[in-house]
Amino acid sequence: MNALDAVATPPRGRPLATIDLDRTLIYSAAAIAEGAPDNAAAAALSATARCVEIYDGRPQSFMSPAAMALLSELVGVAEVVPTTTRTMEQYRRITLPIGTPRFAITSNGGNILVDGVPDVAWSRRVADLLGTLAVGVDAVFERLEADAAGAPWLRTMRIADGLFCYVVVELDLLPPQVVPAWASWAAERGWNVSRQGRKIYVMPDPVTKQLAVDEVTTRLVNRPSSSYAAGDGVLDQPMLVGADAAIRPRHGELEELGWRHSNVAVTEGRGLAASEEMLTWLLTRAGTMVDADEPDKSALAPQMLGAGDEVLRSSTIDRSIPNEGLR
Ligand SMILES: [Mg+2]
Repeated sequence: MNALDAVATPPRGRPLATIDLDRTLIYSAAAIAEGAPDNAAAAALSATARCVEIYDGRPQSFMSPAAMALLSELVGVAEVVPTTTRTMEQYRRITLPIGTPRFAITSNGGNILVDGVPDVAWSRRVADLLGTLAVGVDAVFERLEADAAGAPWLRTMRIADGLFCYVVVELDLLPPQVVPAWASWAAERGWNVSRQGRKIYVMPDPVTKQLAVDEVTTRLVNRPSSSYAAGDGVLDQPMLVGADAAIRPRHGELEELGWRHSNVAVTEGRGLAASEEMLTWLLTRAGTMVDADEPDKSALAPQMLGAGDEVLRSSTIDRSIPNEGLR
């Protein structure tokens, strides 16, 4: 190879795996039960689940032992980037079994943590982007407060990391016109509204998880050979679509919406089983679980889902990993 070739073909780094946290990688006790077929199964899953987050002195989030082992294995072969809408403070409550990752994305892309420390240059870039919008986060909060302050359906509302707003509501009491009114108000001002369970987010349009994923990609010494993503929510959509291939669980917001995309596989299982399945899928794509006698890589090509397509087949899953939850 001559010098010109070397310039034309820079070395490729390890695959990139960007993974949403809540209801993708980690699960509340309620989410564990929701993914189980019956009460006995839910109790069995809860009994073996490992706590990865304590909040107010109580266990808050869990992973299955198998998922923890799979995640540790994945870190050995891919650049794993936890990618969450949580604020930095909320993210730091979580103890993943992988130490402090080189990069983590919090605040829905608003912050990039490098070795656990928020990156100042990225924060400046995000502030510049927010500055281009018709209204700032304080004005958004005031608009929400105009409806929410003192309302019986309001549990709490916050400005998160100075970047976006979220409102936690009692869904049973929430008048149906509130969220659509916020959505149309926000859309005219460069913001967007989405709901995940009882949490309603109002986010700035220009800042997404994918924007931060693009930034992380440019910062890796060697550009990743490929990129994969996993996530369950509407706020994960740009990241799922932006990856070379992605997977989402058969639960959560995107499942409730029936969202399908040709680039995004869907698990067979739900709950903790789905988390194990997604990690197995990521390991498979990272190339480590291809059997030596596998005829060719096309046999492992993602079962991309178009409308009516079949779900991810069990043939893509290496049975050498003990993983009862996969079925
Ligand atoms: Mg999620």
